[in-house]
Amino acid sequence: MSEKVLIIAEVRDDKLRNVTYESIAAARKISPDGELVGVICSHKDTSNLAEEMIHYGADRVILMENDKLKTYSSEAYTQAILHAINEESPNSIIMGHTSIGKDLSPKLASKLDSGLISDAIDVEVAGENVVFTRPIYSGKAFEKKIITNGLLFATIRPNNIRALDKDASRNGEVSKKEVEIADLRTVIKDVIQKTSEGVDLSEAKVIVAGGRGVKSAEGFEPLYELAQVLGGAVGASRAACDAGYCDYSLQIGQTGKVVTPDLYIACGISGAIQHLAGMSNSKVIVAINKDPEATIFQIADYGIVGDLFEILPQLTEELKKVEM
Ligand code: FAD
Repeated sequence: MSEKVLIIAEVRDDKLRNVTYESIAAARKISPDGELVGVICSHKDTSNLAEEMIHYGADRVILMENDKLKTYSSEAYTQAILHAINEESPNSIIMGHTSIGKDLSPKLASKLDSGLISDAIDVEVAGENVVFTRPIYSGKAFEKKIITNGLLFATIRPNNIRALDKDASRNGEVSKKEVEIADLRTVIKDVIQKTSEGVDLSEAKVIVAGGRGVKSAEGFEPLYELAQVLGGAVGASRAACDAGYCDYSLQIGQTGKVVTPDLYIACGISGAIQHLAGMSNSKVIVAINKDPEATIFQIADYGIVGDLFEILPQLTEELKKVEM
């Protein structure tokens, strides 16, 4: 299939989010010989990011520029992206299943009167069809979905489709468009960002997560120490957030973040279905729990039955001896 695929980039702190590279890889799977066109919305010149997209497999990148695109708003971004879609008439559109993707994609799909496959974790071409795999029932089962006609529009879950290798020798056209954006009903005056140290939870390759079993905010210290040694991030169950042990931005699960790190270490977490919904697709799961009957052991690749306050410091000390 040699079709044109539009990839909607996501930028945070002047950098492309990893899911943008993964979206390019998904687009290449859909269209092995077609043209992959990146779209970056910004208020300023992002040619450097466009080059990055090309190094990761995009053939061409369009920069949609307007002062109103400084901060994300679905109204402004929808208008800018619709301009790009109308000019390019792509066969397919791929973007990340992130907070922004979840907000933007249904709006775009309704404006385009198209279908939408959301939260795909894999895509393959089978005969005439492009088949997306997506988790259902909080990750307990998977379904295969196709769009039978019209525009193929999908969002992909971060950390599931491997990005293509970077090739800095790749070249491609980068074009800028000063896009017109009509008056917005909502204007964002200011964004107050939480200061977060260390690795971004949603993109972390290693996550050390704590639950009610951690017992207090101070109890999270050994988790932070282990996460630091492993170059990872700390996450939490809702019970731990509800109890005030940590901030809600760390919550993983059905009503929190969905993560798929290479390694997930669950400490003092029982394994409720709502928690599993946010982490069961992690590549390797290690569970530390003093209850041998805890549900989390049913999905863990490695289980340690014991007191997390004894196990974590030992694990951290041993890992410090290993060169990583
Ligand atoms: P618990 O179930 O209390 O488990 C604590 C575990 O710690 C136990 O297994 C215990 O054996 C172990 N433990 C205790 N002390 C130690 C020790 N010293 N060493 C080792 N192990 C120890 N939950 C989420 O996490 N994320 C969500 O997004 C989410 N969304 C929800 C949405 C809805 C609509 C509802 C109804 C619930 C949701 N929940 C969510 C809550 C969920 O149902 C569970 O209540 C919650 O996940 C339990 O958290 P927990 O495992 O930390 O606590």
